[in-house]
Amino acid sequence: MPYTIPPSCSHCGICLPECPTKAIQIDNNNEHWVEPGLCNNCEDDNSQAPCVSSCPDSLPLPLPTKKGRYKAEPRVLNTHHLFANGHNNPIASSMVIWEACNILAKGSDFPWQIDSSGKLYFKRQVKQGKGKIEFRLADDIDANVKQTLSYQDANPIIEAMDIRAACVHLIFAALATSLEKPWEQEFAIDNKQIETYLGLDKRKDLSKAAKLTLIKSLIQQPCQLIADVDWFQQGKIQSFSVPKDRIWHLVAIDNHFQEDAQGYKHLVGMTFRIRAGMWARYFLNKQGYKKYVAYYQYGTLPKFLLTTVMTIWHQHEGAVRMMLWLLFKTKMGKQQRVTVPRLMYVAYGEAKVREASLHREKRKRLLRRFESDLEVLNHYQVKPVFDPVTYPTAIQPLWARLAAIPDDAEEAMEFWIKDGCNETSITDSAPPGKWNLLMKARILHFELPSNGINNYLVGKIKNNARLVAKVKLTLYLV
Ligand code: SF4
Ligand code: SF4
Repeated sequence: MPYTIPPSCSHCGICLPECPTKAIQIDNNNEHWVEPGLCNNCEDDNSQAPCVSSCPDSLPLPLPTKKGRYKAEPRVLNTHHLFANGHNNPIASSMVIWEACNILAKGSDFPWQIDSSGKLYFKRQVKQGKGKIEFRLADDIDANVKQTLSYQDANPIIEAMDIRAACVHLIFAALATSLEKPWEQEFAIDNKQIETYLGLDKRKDLSKAAKLTLIKSLIQQPCQLIADVDWFQQGKIQSFSVPKDRIWHLVAIDNHFQEDAQGYKHLVGMTFRIRAGMWARYFLNKQGYKKYVAYYQYGTLPKFLLTTVMTIWHQHEGAVRMMLWLLFKTKMGKQQRVTVPRLMYVAYGEAKVREASLHREKRKRLLRRFESDLEVLNHYQVKPVFDPVTYPTAIQPLWARLAAIPDDAEEAMEFWIKDGCNETSITDSAPPGKWNLLMKARILHFELPSNGINNYLVGKIKNNARLVAKVKLTLYLV
């Protein structure tokens, strides 16, 4: 049971630095309170909790369980709601956003580098080195602090990165498109909206405090990423540099409390105020685009992607990474060929794929994992279309080969009779050298749900000739 600070507290602040989990905080009224999701009751320690022993009035007390349901409280949110059409929403799709999504999805599997001063960074070359984006991690969530972390200090953070934070990053990137100048204007999002977008509202196994702690942590992770960009001249748009800045600024967190009959405060919600970093001035600037001084790059975020990621992230990390990567790669519904090694790098990291190519057992395991992840994508309506030349039936996963069996019983019988007469059967084991063949195999494209990306864009492109030019430009850049 977490502790709480009762109404009789004089707010002297003595207990604040004593809490080992930083659960004691100060609210907007300069009053002290305990964040229940962070307070662990000092359960590992047999002595008195440090907050209690330091308090002149021995005040922090175990928080009594709240009786009854929380009252529905009206919250005035000056914010935009996503997925107004029920299916999808525009999303900022610049390379900065795409790569940041990859970082959050891969964490320590990302090919991080160390610079000469021992700091962790990742440099993404653009257009054969004509441009570059450099990513780093900030050591503090405070919106004004831009100091970056050394490899050693950053290591625990990248190890602890939660793939679900990539979903929150996508939500931010979608909300940013609703603003005229997202690098100057804030947007607000509260825990209820995030719960709805991520499907957390249906999780009955998590307490309110646990949900709030999880949401806060997922919000903070994208806000620790810092990027600086050097971009090359493209048509009439001159080259430019984007100064080092956070990708998302966590401007403030407003906590919402409800008091019970005894005057104890219960945390019931959080509103996060976020502002996009300076990248948005150059890559999500409608007015600048009209004046040929910036880009306005956007794609489409299908609603199903967020809920699917939240459903499968724990067991199918590779499938989630591919799905997130494909959101940008196949945006605009274009057919884009993807090689199998590229997909494997995305799903498992280059190091793991290289290692597998040298060890038979590891190779077999990775192959099984890859085919299972492709099956999961297929199940969630992101269907791979195999290139018949480089990725023929013989090396396709068994589930894909079995998909050719007709549903009708008689037709299925005929199918198996024919299959039995052939020299090879669809159930034959893979030919020797399957791994090497796969390293040259390609997937032509991924089919998406009919109300996903394709329909949305087709409608828009038909109606707006200017958008066609934008789409072409964006595709070219990515
Ligand atoms: S019980 Fe421990 S974790 Fe909880 S507020 Fe007190 S010092 Fe912090
Ligand atoms: S030390 Fe005691 S009185 Fe002072 S802020 Fe903490 S709980 Fe309140």
